[in-house]
Amino acid sequence: METVHLKINNIPVEVPQGYTILQAAKQANIEIPTLCYLKDINCIGACRVCMVEAKNRRGLLAACVYPAEEGLEVFTNTPAVIKSRKTTIELLLSNHKKKCLSCLRNNNCELQKLALEYGVDEDRFQSEEPIYEIDDLSPYIVRDNNKCINCMRCVAACKNVQSISVIGAIRRGFDAHVGSAFDKSLDNAPCVGCGQCVVSCPVGALTEKPQEDKVWDAIADPTKKVLFFTAPSIKATLGEAFDMPIGTNVEGKMAAAIKRLGENVSAFNMDFTADLTIIEEANELVERIKNGGTLPMFTSCCPGWVKFVEHYYPEMLPHLSTCKSPQAMFGAVLKGYYCQKNNIDPKDVFVVSVIPCTAKKFEATRPQLRSDENYDDVDVALTTRELARMIKRAGIDFTNLPEEDFDAPFNKATGGGAIFGATGGVLEAALRTAARILDGDFKKVDFEEVRGPEEVRVATYEVAGVTVKVAVTSGLGNARKLVEKVKSGEADYQMIEVMACPGGCINGGGQPTRSDSVSNYVDYKALRSKALYDYDKNAEFRVCDDSPVIKMIYDEFFEAPGKEKAHHYLHTSYTARDKYYK
Ligand code: SF4
Ligand code: SF4
Ligand code: SF4
Repeated sequence: METVHLKINNIPVEVPQGYTILQAAKQANIEIPTLCYLKDINCIGACRVCMVEAKNRRGLLAACVYPAEEGLEVFTNTPAVIKSRKTTIELLLSNHKKKCLSCLRNNNCELQKLALEYGVDEDRFQSEEPIYEIDDLSPYIVRDNNKCINCMRCVAACKNVQSISVIGAIRRGFDAHVGSAFDKSLDNAPCVGCGQCVVSCPVGALTEKPQEDKVWDAIADPTKKVLFFTAPSIKATLGEAFDMPIGTNVEGKMAAAIKRLGENVSAFNMDFTADLTIIEEANELVERIKNGGTLPMFTSCCPGWVKFVEHYYPEMLPHLSTCKSPQAMFGAVLKGYYCQKNNIDPKDVFVVSVIPCTAKKFEATRPQLRSDENYDDVDVALTTRELARMIKRAGIDFTNLPEEDFDAPFNKATGGGAIFGATGGVLEAALRTAARILDGDFKKVDFEEVRGPEEVRVATYEVAGVTVKVAVTSGLGNARKLVEKVKSGEADYQMIEVMACPGGCINGGGQPTRSDSVSNYVDYKALRSKALYDYDKNAEFRVCDDSPVIKMIYDEFFEAPGKEKAHHYLHTSYTARDKYYK
């Protein structure tokens, strides 16, 4: 590999050819501030916050795009550099709705951090008052363009990572802003709800639609039983909202904290319905393989992916497993089995799921998830960030909280359910169960071939004379390529796992927002995934069918996978949607 030699702040640095000044500086342990730059997603040199000075070069250089050149002498902190950055921040703030006190990104905002670091006087340049209407019509995302800094990170995430391009720069000049075509609300656009735009936003212009108040109201209502359940990935990410190291498993503290939110609150483990999804899905796969059903079968547990198929590949809907997602299954189990067993009117139960993404907020509103008696199976879906805010508002000292178990009867689950939160986890858990269905003596539990960060992982297994060919991908840009291969006949798999978010739910649009110094330099996805795989390795049960709660619920309620009752509560249907509209 060819290398180049340069100096940054008089420190000699040797870096591979092709590195930018920003990357070279990082290697020399010098941090240059950024706003529009987001590693692997957005590198357009637009915001001008990363400007540096270099000997024998005219003017200032944008470090995120300027190449590290042989013999270059760079200075990152000169008076000219500081003046330039300060002016840029002042200009950004000149038409910014400065409402830090109530902003959901307060204390976790890249612009606010820079303003503080550079001692910026917010009001040097006066501009018009905020002019944009807040778009809060969708059930999952709020866009406030009065806080947008036009960094285009959300646009790049939607286009380059997800291949959706449902948002972009519209209008010209002073009126240029980010929005959907014809300035329509996100609610009226073919957005899949993944929230990758939200976690890419450095400021408070994009947030999840906050719903904590509805939950607080339910907790304050003595006639309600408030039943929380937390998705598999939350145990590996919630700690970050309390400044714990990335990848800390906080399952016990999380269960304890939720129970302290109110006397009428129970905390259940959604890994249980991840197990339940696998039982139903593995049986559906074996059934399709044995009886010539539609193959490949795509997983259906990710509502971002499901909505993507509904909008962009409606002809592929028969390929989606009919299984509901774990969130939707839990809602049905609580308002069905749990209420019947405990003789409670489902209207007196308030179901709160804690989920990694904004797509599940949309999913909770799907008409397919309304019961025959006209109530929603899931009343509110809260992101990890919203749960963290509730815990903080309740004054709970999360870091020092003694660990507790989830509440019975939905307190036990398997490692197979836990790894649902990382890309490849659903397929691996399904393989464990499907292999057992085909060959009762099958012993392999670790299917490492389907783990990892590669764009697509493929594997072939021989089980009891049956060849099972599988593929895994995450990120909708990668998914689109795989679907095209399936359509052209180039890919002949039996089962394909797709998660909308790159890396899976551990990187969902509702997870704790990371600062640029983390997003751009730390492999947080690997650290979060590791927490789930370590959990699986040490779990009492690793194959979903071994869970005592699974055995109980089939014995007491569903009888057997795929049977009529299981089908009624645990399976669903999909809606072909338009490519251009909602
Ligand atoms: S986006 Fe940042 S600077 Fe703007 S109001 Fe929110 S916290 Fe303050
Ligand atoms: S939620 Fe996903 S699809 Fe919708 S605008 Fe954001 S990135 Fe694009
Ligand atoms: S991958 Fe997970 S977090 Fe992302 S949209 Fe799908 S279910 Fe939500």
